[in-house]
Amino acid sequence: MDDKKNTLLELLDTVKIVLVGTTHPGNIGAAARAMKNMGFRKLILVEPKEFPSDVATYRSKAAKDILEEAEIFNTLEQAVADCELVIGTSARDRKVPWPILNPKESAETVVKNLPQQKVALVFGREDRGLTNEELGLCNFHVHIPTDPDYSSLNLAQAVQILVYEIRVASLSDTEDKNYWDVELANTQQTEMLINHMDELMQQVEFYDVDNPRKLLLRVRRFFKRSNIDVMEANIFRGLFATIQKKLKQ
Ligand code: SAH
Repeated sequence: MDDKKNTLLELLDTVKIVLVGTTHPGNIGAAARAMKNMGFRKLILVEPKEFPSDVATYRSKAAKDILEEAEIFNTLEQAVADCELVIGTSARDRKVPWPILNPKESAETVVKNLPQQKVALVFGREDRGLTNEELGLCNFHVHIPTDPDYSSLNLAQAVQILVYEIRVASLSDTEDKNYWDVELANTQQTEMLINHMDELMQQVEFYDVDNPRKLLLRVRRFFKRSNIDVMEANIFRGLFATIQKKLKQ
């Protein structure tokens, strides 16, 4: 095995597997096992209903260490603040279309960006999945193609499929397909940019704050989809700040 392949496989343990609002601790344990089987280690829990839990430990089998090292956050925004590539999962289509990938494409995107970017894969609640706000924090959505009559997989099985695809893609990827001269903006930096733009839009009364319709969602989708880098984000923020200064004069 050459160096590059080694490096990619070694990098799998930097990918954050984020489970949001998990109800059943057994699913957390089964997800940890699925992760460890495929070389992933970084489990992040956002508001788990019950954790730590004996049921989770039992279902994790030999992946107890992953549960012990799991980090817990109050919100998804905090959990992925330092990530440049955030991929959310969805069992069904949403009202506002977002760039959507199949599992293989999502794995290729992860592997292509893994050497340069912090990556998170986000999974939703057993009963309701992810909220639209949470999906809005993601650069891409991934849907596992299922029978449309019953599209919702068990949470840990969905984790298994996606981490498996990433492992397969990392085994077969040999060329360096990705090059960018500036670091990409992470979730926190992009959120600050979107908030700044919103602040300016409100100052110039660009939209009716009581009836924003889908404007903000579309603005958000644009920035999430465009892989904006740190320098580009600074240019926009500098421009917004300059306009705000002029407005005050
Ligand atoms: N009723 C919920 C289903 C949640 S299933 C909904 O409609 O969203 C729990 C989690 O498992 C989902 O949030 C997602 O992370 C994952 N999952 C289940 N089925 C999936 C599918 N077909 N594609 C992608 N992720 C899926």
